[in-house]
Amino acid sequence: MTGPLRVAVIGAGTAGAAAALFLSRAGHDVVVFERVAEPGPVGAGIMMQPSGLLVLERLGLARRVVDRGSRVARLVCETPEGRPILDLHYAMLAEGLFGVGLHRGVLFETLHGALVASRARLHCGVAVARVRSARLGRSANSANLWGSLETRMPSE
Ligand SMILES: Cc1cc2nc3c(=O)[nH]c(=O)nc-3n(C[C@H](O)[C@H](O)[C@H](O)COP(=O)(O)OP(=O)(O)OC[C@H]3O[C@@H](n4cnc5c(N)ncnc54)[C@H](O)[C@@H]3O)c2cc1C
Repeated sequence: MTGPLRVAVIGAGTAGAAAALFLSRAGHDVVVFERVAEPGPVGAGIMMQPSGLLVLERLGLARRVVDRGSRVARLVCETPEGRPILDLHYAMLAEGLFGVGLHRGVLFETLHGALVASRARLHCGVAVARVRSARLGRSANSANLWGSLETRMPSE
């Protein structure tokens, strides 16, 4: 049976934070490298789809996001002339489905807060410059992979 792995995650955005949380909760030794020295929410509004909410649900974080956003039951898109492009009733896809409109900061705070509180180690202000491919033959092990990461400060 495979034991805990040493995993490097590049980027503490939505995908990186979620991946790091899943992996560290599964018992792996996770380090996240984020090139931004002080990560913070960028942008304004964001719309979470049911697939994204399911991921947050699996992380036990959906409630915090749903409670601070607005539920969206139907998505209607049309051209400036009024021609319909999309008319999506979430509940028609499956009972209980909905989207959530929220400020990006809510998603960032939720994921980033959980990441900081997790066992994963977050190194900010470190940009990964190159990842050398490691041969995953019989002789390769996690130490080989670990040593193949090169990092540099963003100003370099
Ligand atoms: C204006 C705008 C509006 C959007 N609206 C929506 C929306 O309403 N709904 C929706 O679902 N999606 C929306 N998106 C898309 C959504 O933001 C992205 O799909 C999502 O952020 C992707 O997450 P990610 O973690 O893959 O990338 P990012 O969020 O971009 O995170 C990548 C992270 O990796 C770091 N990084 C990159 N390179 C390195 C490196 N070499 N070393 C170290 N760190 C590195 C970056 O600094 C960053 O923090 C929108 C995107 C934009 C630009």
